[in-house]
This record gives sequence, C-alpha cells and structure tokens, in this order.
Amino acid sequence: MKDFEDFPEVSLQEVVNAEPAIPLTRSADPHVQDDISEIIAQARRENRTYLMEHECKEMLEILGIATTGYLVAGSEDEAVEMSRSMGYPVVLKVVSPDIVHKTDAGGVKLNLKNDDAVRGAYQEMMQTFKYQHVIGIAVQKMAEPGLEAIIGVTRDPNFGAVLMFGLGGIFVEVLKDVTFRILPVAREDVDAMIGEIKGRRLLEGYRGQDVDREALIDLIMKISDLVTLFPEIRELDLNPVFLYRKDNVVVDARMFVGDAVEAATRAPAHDLHDFFYPQSIAVLGASGVPGKLGYNVFRNLLFHDFQGKLYPINAKGEDVQGVKSYRKITDVPDPVDLAIVIVPAAVAEESIAQCCEKGVRYIVVETAGFAETGEDGKLAQRRIKAIIEKTGARLLGPNCSGTINTHHNMVQSIGLIQEMGKGNIGMIAQAGVYAAGILTGLRHVMDFGVVATIGNKMDISETDILEYLGTDDHIDVVSIYMEDVTSGRRFIDVAKQVTARKPVIVLKSGRTAAGQKAVASHTASLAGNDEINAAAFRQSGIIRARDNEHMFGLTKAFARQPIPKQNSALVVTYTGSLGVAATDMLYTNGMRLADLEPDRKERLLKILPDYVKNLNPVDFSFSMDAEQLIQTLQLGIDSNDVGGLIVVLQGEILGTFLEPLKALDYKGKPIMTCVACKEFMMEDVIAFEKAGFPVYATVEAATEALATMYHYGRYRTEQENL
Ligand code: ADP
Ligand code: MG
Repeated sequence: MKDFEDFPEVSLQEVVNAEPAIPLTRSADPHVQDDISEIIAQARRENRTYLMEHECKEMLEILGIATTGYLVAGSEDEAVEMSRSMGYPVVLKVVSPDIVHKTDAGGVKLNLKNDDAVRGAYQEMMQTFKYQHVIGIAVQKMAEPGLEAIIGVTRDPNFGAVLMFGLGGIFVEVLKDVTFRILPVAREDVDAMIGEIKGRRLLEGYRGQDVDREALIDLIMKISDLVTLFPEIRELDLNPVFLYRKDNVVVDARMFVGDAVEAATRAPAHDLHDFFYPQSIAVLGASGVPGKLGYNVFRNLLFHDFQGKLYPINAKGEDVQGVKSYRKITDVPDPVDLAIVIVPAAVAEESIAQCCEKGVRYIVVETAGFAETGEDGKLAQRRIKAIIEKTGARLLGPNCSGTINTHHNMVQSIGLIQEMGKGNIGMIAQAGVYAAGILTGLRHVMDFGVVATIGNKMDISETDILEYLGTDDHIDVVSIYMEDVTSGRRFIDVAKQVTARKPVIVLKSGRTAAGQKAVASHTASLAGNDEINAAAFRQSGIIRARDNEHMFGLTKAFARQPIPKQNSALVVTYTGSLGVAATDMLYTNGMRLADLEPDRKERLLKILPDYVKNLNPVDFSFSMDAEQLIQTLQLGIDSNDVGGLIVVLQGEILGTFLEPLKALDYKGKPIMTCVACKEFMMEDVIAFEKAGFPVYATVEAATEALATMYHYGRYRTEQENL
C-alpha cells in the first residue's frame, strides 16, 4: 500500500497538458533503472510473473510517462480521502495478483462522482472479491475520453522483443487492426507503424480528432527503451492509452516478467566468396552407378564443366565417372577447398570429421536424415556442430541440394540438371526441390547466377547467403523460399542492407498459425508467427510473395527489366476487358494510366482502327498487328508521361511480334507482356522470355509486377537519401 502523502496532487488536465516530464535519456539514469528493477524484483520475490496495474504505472511514471495514477487505498476511508484530493470523478479498480482482466471480473468502477459513489463502489468490490486475494483498491482520476490506442510488447524466440501498436477498443478486439515491429526501432519506424494501421485516418485528423503524433511516438520510444533495458519484461500491454490533441495518458497497464531470454543470435558470417568459388571440390560418396544421388552430384559437376579440381571419394577406391578417386578425403594429396557429403546418414558424422581433419573450410552436407527426422537427428546435428566448431569449418545443410554458381560452372545438385544460362538471379531455398525439380523447368525461362539450398541450416543460414549475394556483382535480384527465419535480428539488419541495393523477394510458407498459444496479454495473442515475420520483412524492405508463381513472376521482371521511374503506364491491348483489368490493377497498386501529350494522341488515333477512340488503355479490338503495336509503343516510349508499358498480346500470333519488339529501343522503360492461356503456346512464350520480355498469363500479374518494381524503386531511392 502506498502512503498518500508521497504523491503530489496532480489534476488530469495538468497531466494531459504536461510536456513529457523526463527526457528519453532519463532511462539511462542509474536511479531510474534501480527503481524499476526494484519493482520487478519485488514481484519476483513474491514468485509473481504478473505485474499489477499500479506497479506497471509506477514504472511508467518513473520513465516520465503520464498515467491515470497508481494510488492504492487500503480502506474505504482512505479511498474517499484519495478521491477528494485528486478531485471527482474518479475510478476504482481491484488490485489483485490473481486478477488480470479486471473488467471481466467486475473489478472496474468508472466515473464515480462523489464520496457516496466511492463508498458504494468500494463496498461492492469488497463483496465481489471477498474470497480472493485483494491487495487494495486502486483510486484513479477518471480520464477525459480520448482516442483509445493499444501499445504492447511480446518476445519472439527468434526475433526477440516485438512491438505492437493499434487502436484500442473495438479496433483491436474485433478488427485486429494492429501492426508490429521488431525492436529496437527508430522514430521513423514508429511513424511508419502509425501510418500503417487501417484506422490511421482517425489519428490523422478525421473529423478534427487529430492526436498528438509526436507525443505518441515519444511514448512508444520510451516503451521500446524500457523493454530493451529490462529483458525480464516478457510481455507488456498498455491498453488503453488515451490519445489527445495534446499528449496522451496511459489508462491501464499490465506486464509479465520472467527470466531474461536472449533472442537467437549468430556470429556474423565471414566472407562466403570462396564457398561459392572453390578451386577444388571433393565429393564424399561420389558414385559411378547411375540412379544414385552420389552419381548425380558428381555427374552435375562434370556435365557443367567445373573448372577446378575434382576428387571423388569412394570407399571402393575405383575411378568414378572416369575420374581418379580416393578411399578417404585424407588420402587426397592436395588441399581441398570444399567437400560435398552425400554418404549414408550413418557414416556422415565420420565423413565430416575427416573433412575437418583434412582442413576443408567448407562442407556441404546433402545427406538427409537429421533434425528433420526427430530427436536422434537433432542430437547428431549437435555433435556435428561440435566437430566443425573445432576447426572453424562452415557447413551447409544437412538435408540440402547444395549450391549452384553458373558463373563458376558449379552445380552440386542431387538431381541431374541440364544446361543453365549464366544469369543475374540469386535464389536461396530451404527446400532442395528448388535446385532440382523446379529448376529443371525454370531454367528454360530464367537465368540464375546462384542457387543455394540450405536444408536444415544448422550452420550457414539464409542470412549468411543473403549477405553474400548482396556483395556478388553477378546478382541483381534475390529470391528466397523459406519455411522459418532462424537468424533473428541479424536477418533484418542484413536484409535491410541488401534491399537498399538489390530487390529481395521472399516466399515464406507456414503463414497460418497452427494452434494459438494460450497467453494472457493481448499483444502476445495477436502476435502470431506470421505477423512477426511480416513485420520483419516490412522493416527490412523485403518484397513478400504470396506463392511460387508470384515470386518467380516478380523475380523475372526484376531480372530482365529496368525499374520504372514513374508510376504511370501505357496499356496496349487487343481486347477491352483486359484493358479494364489492367486499369483496375494499376490504381489499386498506387499506379495510374499515363496521359499522352496531345500531338502523340493525334498520331495514335491515326494508327488505330477508325472505330477506336480510347487512347489508354489503347484497345485495338482484335486488329493489332506488329506494325501498329511498334508504332504505339514508340509513342509511349517517347512520351514524358509514360513510366512503363503493359502489352496484352494475342497468343495465336504471338510469334509475329517477337522480332519487331526486340528491335525497339525502350530507353530504360520496362515492358511487361500478358498472353492469356500462355501455357498453350509455350514455344513462343519461351522465346519471349529468353529475349527478356516477361510474359504473364494474366494482365493483373503483369501490372502488379510493374507496380511492385516501381514501389521498390521508390524505396531504394529513399534508402539512398537517408
Ligand atoms: P481491464 O483491461 O483489466 O478490464 P482497464 O483498467 O483497462 O481494465 O479498464 C477497463 C476500461 O475502463 C478501459 O478500457 C477504459 O475504457 C476504462 N477506464 C479504466 N480506467 C479509466 C480511467 N482512469 N479513466 C477513464 N476510463 C478508464
Ligand atoms: Mg485494459
């Protein structure tokens, strides 16, 4: 119980109008830290993980955050005395370590206007909670109604502290209109969060209800500071915070504390250049028997004409596919840069140990049967980790399909891969199928530079490879297929660096949360895995793909076409309906139809059939030939108002457009093509793709790709200007 004399009388109006009492840096003041630590320590001594409202608010006040107060009365008379001194109306709330949701329990009495009301409410609550452990009754000033917001923090085992912001009440309860960021955040991040929620107009002056945005950002930054300084705070809800035209006040607060848990961290990767450019490769488990995985891996290295030295390692010691082999890697007389392990799981550990003995720096373990199979496999991975840590070797996999670097004629895949072009796409995939089955098809229309499959990623992770691809000059765009992000905050930092230079497109599977955790805080219950991943992607400038088709559709656009400099497109179509669809898609994606200059409009009218009057989308009504198309596109290329071109082509005569389109000079403007039912004219479509024209089955996909490129370009410029 608090002694009332300790607390100066402060009217709410004073609180609301006050400047932030203590600057942010005050949290670095050792006394502040000691005071807050003591509140947490007290709860821990009592074996509590839940901090009651008055305790939380005391902490917040120490940090200079305005609250409705944290007085607790021990008797009816004391409650009346407190109410009188702070001035009516007041609020009474039950204070109990067992009651987390006070309203639901009947523990909140609002708008009490006089002594009698306070006495009545006090007695009623004592009756309601007579069998519960009640510490006292909180007496607070009744706050003026404001716009209700919720601010929360939860801890993710991978990313660490995650911040949530949203509007309170129905907005959070029903609409779940909240947004997340991984901490720590900068003021700009918080500002972006506030602008991201659906109800943002309520904050930005809808019906004159604008709120003090700077004060809100101050508050959120202080909360970010608090949980960064105190890793014992596991969950926190400020719900509600009332936002006013000037300042804000925290009306309710709860926290859960526990042992500090550090987020996943990994040592920063060293430069992986030699991993992608080894001069010599040993293949442990290389085989001369077609059909075996060890055959495929070695075959791929030979077939793609790897220029360095190859050492098949095979227990029988026979030549493998015409190459002299060794029984053990330690028998190889020369140094080995990289070893691929494709032996049975039972002998994989021993093989890896021998690689380390040989002094190999990079080991690619394609063998499966580890963590993905259960506890024994997890234990085996831990033992392997200990083995490689002794020599500092880096390991990719296990359970992967190795890497491909077409610029180094190196294909390590477990599936046989035919010719590949040398391209500018970097692909990182958790699943081996991206360097096998999927690649078998894609290699016809996309040229990859690097493909890296990471499998169980017990050592080298998606983050390490992403960091490398950011530095590889052959690579202009990175696509990632991932099932989980395991490198925590480092992923965000690395991705942010890379996206400032190259687009990074991520397809993350496992969006749906299977089974919601039972949690007491609002924030934790709203923070599903996908929300947290989405926040991490947003924070790092990553483009998120919905599915494989979307991912590869964007990848090929970025790989082959320049980024549009304006948000305006010229749409050329042979059918009106697809022009309408393109228009819709442009405007829903923050783009628009370009407006040609009057003289260009006139020239366009001369190209079009007489009955056509619509000049963007330019609709040829099934009468467009290559000559007309080229003339129309030329007008778009020359027009100052055209950022990009979207062309809907008739599949039946697709082939007739290719050479004329190839001959045009696009002057740095991108072109996206749509061929409805393209899967039935594959030969022509492949020819188009090879010539660098991305082909989409729907005009929506073509338009969306253009819009995504435009927005990425803007993002990159913003990053450059920071
Ligand atoms: P709980 O979330 O545990 O049910 P709260 O303290 O949030 O309890 O109270 C419930 C609701 O009552 C709040 O969402 C707010 O609308 C209102 N309320 C609580 N305290 C005050 C106060 N001091 N001034 C004004 N309204 C309040
Ligand atoms: Mg509440």
